[in-house]
Amino acid sequence: MKVPFLSLAPNSKELDRLTEITREVLSGGQLVMGAAVFSFESEIANFAGRRHALAVSSGSDAVFLALKAAGVGPGDEVITTSLSWIATANAIARTGATPIFCDIDDDLNLAVSSLDELLSRRTKAVLSVDFTGRLANYEELVPYCTNNGLLLVEDGSQAFGASRGNYKCGGVGIISAISHNPMKVLAGTGEAGSVLYDDDQFKERLEMLRYNGTIMKEECREVGINARMDTLQAAVLLFRLKTFQSDVLQPRLRNAIVYDTHLPTEVKRPSRTGQEIHSYYTYTVRTELRDNLKAFLEDNGIETKIQHPILMGDQKPFVRSRRVDRHAQKLKGEILSLPIHEKLTQDQIFYTCQLIEKFFN
Ligand SMILES: *Cc1c(COP(=O)(O)O)cnc(C)c1O
Repeated sequence: MKVPFLSLAPNSKELDRLTEITREVLSGGQLVMGAAVFSFESEIANFAGRRHALAVSSGSDAVFLALKAAGVGPGDEVITTSLSWIATANAIARTGATPIFCDIDDDLNLAVSSLDELLSRRTKAVLSVDFTGRLANYEELVPYCTNNGLLLVEDGSQAFGASRGNYKCGGVGIISAISHNPMKVLAGTGEAGSVLYDDDQFKERLEMLRYNGTIMKEECREVGINARMDTLQAAVLLFRLKTFQSDVLQPRLRNAIVYDTHLPTEVKRPSRTGQEIHSYYTYTVRTELRDNLKAFLEDNGIETKIQHPILMGDQKPFVRSRRVDRHAQKLKGEILSLPIHEKLTQDQIFYTCQLIEKFFN
């Protein structure tokens, strides 16, 4: 049996619908920023409990624009987690600010207890990441930011649909960014992202920054980028958002429960409190025998991933950064993401669990 880590090709029913959508968009003739973009903005804002959304060309641009709109720029320091996709650190650097890397807890999310020793006069913001599809520890982080006069910006790229108590992905802090690349939970059929926020003041600036810093398409007020969303991506995302609960979140949760109940105790499973709904972007377990287990699974047709083998502070552009990442250094050697996507069959998950059990026997 083969168990692919991801399966991005649509099934035949979805393929039919996507073909219809493509036909509609193409025949409408407005290929970028068409009507579907504005509909998508209002639907996703609504879903996340925000007043506004800005549809953009990628999650990377979404994080960058969120930080810019929050007022982050040269001379500022932004604290973020050590363990994330490198887009998180690049977005900070792209504003001209300096990324500072904090440690992580056993839940693989930013450790609030490691922030104190990283604070400086220049610390402007914390960029939290909802890693693996689970919200960061906002019960502690939100008051921490308030008490220390720091802005909180959320990189919710991995966790759309997740919640934790009253906190909802895309709705935390002053502004949030989501990725909709094809691997992410609310996925386009190409690159796309969203910025979510409440403050009316950000609206004009964000729309300007999204189109080369211009107003009325011609007058340039500041240096911006082209981060407009294709109408096709917006139409696909609108369609997928409508069935997001039933087609993505529920199957992933169901798969996670099968893993939770059938994995042997030798691997540490991602815990879930009654307060939390995870989106299970990945189902990431931990074991000190990670490399051997990964090789054994691969030999048996099961594809797994290590996200990520290199901490952001160890990547070439950031090696000189200030950081506290002792626990992250340890955990990066133990993490292994198992297939969890919605197209898996229960048999494929049982098979994976059985093999993992066999490995430990
Ligand atoms: C995927 C991801 C991004 C970047 O999103 P793209 O759409 O691929 O540009 C940023 N941050 C995190 C945490 C991500 O997982």
